[in-house]
Amino acid sequence: MIEKPKTLVYYFYKTIFWLVMKMVFDTIAAISTFPGEAGIGIVRISGDDALEIISKIFKPYKPKNIKKVKSHTLHYGHIVDPETEDVYDEVLVSIMKKPNTYTREDIVEINCHGGIVVTSKILELVLKQGARLAEPGEFTKRAFLNGRIDLSQAEAVIDIITAKTMLANKYAQKQLSGHIGQKMKELKDKIMGLLVHLLALIDFPEDDVEELERKEILETAKEIVEDIDKLIASSESGRIIREGLKTAIIGKPNVGKSSLLNALLKENRAIVTDIPGTTRDIIEEYVNVKGIPIKLIDTAGIRDTDELVEKIGVAKSKEVLAEADLILFVLDASRELTKEDYEIFDILAGKNIVFVLNKIDLSKKIDEKELKNLTKDGIIIEVSAVEKIGLQELEDAIYNLVFKGNVNVKEDEIITNSRHKEALINAKKYMESVVEAIEMEYSEDLITIDLNAALEQIGKITGETATEDLINQIFERFCVGK
Ligand code: GDP
Repeated sequence: MIEKPKTLVYYFYKTIFWLVMKMVFDTIAAISTFPGEAGIGIVRISGDDALEIISKIFKPYKPKNIKKVKSHTLHYGHIVDPETEDVYDEVLVSIMKKPNTYTREDIVEINCHGGIVVTSKILELVLKQGARLAEPGEFTKRAFLNGRIDLSQAEAVIDIITAKTMLANKYAQKQLSGHIGQKMKELKDKIMGLLVHLLALIDFPEDDVEELERKEILETAKEIVEDIDKLIASSESGRIIREGLKTAIIGKPNVGKSSLLNALLKENRAIVTDIPGTTRDIIEEYVNVKGIPIKLIDTAGIRDTDELVEKIGVAKSKEVLAEADLILFVLDASRELTKEDYEIFDILAGKNIVFVLNKIDLSKKIDEKELKNLTKDGIIIEVSAVEKIGLQELEDAIYNLVFKGNVNVKEDEIITNSRHKEALINAKKYMESVVEAIEMEYSEDLITIDLNAALEQIGKITGETATEDLINQIFERFCVGK
C-alpha cells in the first residue's frame, strides 16, 4: 500500500500536540530523600529534558556524552555550575531512559551527599536549567497518568512509606503489585458479563428463553454481591493493619498501667512518630504485636486514669475512649475490687475490652467470683508487668481479637484502604438493587443502569472512573519527591 503524503495540516496538528504534551508533562525535579543531614541525598529529575539538563551540570570522571550512555547505568563525577564553574558535590548519577522507569519518562537521579545545603543547591541548579519543582507525589502521579500503575497501586506507595510493621508493609506490597487491580478486574468482568447477557435479552426477547436466562443472571448477580461482601468484611482487619489498633490502657491508680505500657514498649516498640503542627505536639507510639501496629492513644492522659476520669471529666474521657478500638482494662490481682473498678467499667460499656489482671506475682487478693461478676464473659489475661509474665498471652489475645470473625478471610483478600471500602459499599448497594430488580422482573433497561453504576464505583478504586479532584486529593497526601 502506498502511504499518503503527509499534509501541512498533519504537521501543524502534530506540533500542537507536541507542545501540549510538553506543557502537561514538563520536566520536573525534587529532592527525594528526607530533608536533613544524612549519608546520601537524591535529587530526582523526570521528563523529556532530564538528560539535557544533566548533561549541562554533570562532569563525568571519564569524559563521555551522558545523553548517549546506556539506560539504567551509574556514572561517577561532579556537579558543576556551568556559569561559575563552582564544583557543588562529588556524585553518582543514574540514568534511566523511558519507558522502563518509575514514571515511564526519562529519569535522572543525582546521588549526592546528604546535606540540606548541598541537596538544595543541586536542586536549584537543576531548576535553573529548565526543570520545574515537582508537586507532592507528582512522580507517582505521572506513573499513574502514563499508565504504568493504577490508582490503588499509587496508594500502595503511600502505604509502604507509612507502614508501621512488616505485616502492614506486606499488604501494601501486594497492593503495589496490582493485586487489588486484579481483583477489581475479576469483579468488573463478571458485571460486564451480566450486562452483555441483559443487553442480549433486550435485543432478542423470547419468553421461554428469558425465564431460564433470568434465573442464571440472578444467580450471577447474587454471587457478585457475595464477592463484594467478602472484600468489605476484610476491610476492618485491613484498616487496623494499615493504621494501627487504637488502644487505651485504662484502670484505677496504681494497678500498673505505666508498668504494662513500658513492658509492652520495651519488647515491641515499633515506631514513634511526631505530629507537629498541633497545639501540643502529639507523640504517637506504636507497639508491634505480631505484625499489628498497636497505637497507644493519648498516652499522656491514659497513663493516669485518675486524671482522665476525675479531672477531665466523664464526658471528655468518653470522647477519648470512643476513639479506641481496644481497651486494656488493668486490674490489680493483689487487691480486692473496689467501687472505682466498677465505675471505670461503666464508662467502657460497648467497647472491645481485654481485662488484664496484673501483679499475679504477688499473692492473689482479688475475689474470683466478684471478678467474674465484673468481667462477665470477657477475656481475662493474667500478667505481671514487672516480672514479665503473661505478656505473650496478652499479645495472642489482642491478635485473635483483630482477626475475630475474619478467620475465613484469605490473606490476599484484605482491603486496607477506607476509600476502596466506601466504593465497594456503594457497588454492593447497586448490585443489591440489581438482584431486587431481577427478582421483581423489572425491565432490563433499568437493571443495566444499576450495573453501570456498580461498574463506575469499582472503576474508582483503580482510577479509571476517578474524577480529577479525587486523583488530586490522593496525590496531595504524598511527600514531595515521591
Ligand atoms: P499506674 O498508676 O496504674 O500507672 O501504676 P504503675 O505502673 O505506676 O504501678 C504502680 C506500682 O505497682 C508500682 O510501684 C509498680 O512497680 C507496681 N507494679 C506494677 N505492676 C506490677 C506487677 O506486675 N507486680 C508487682 N509486684 N508490682 C507491680
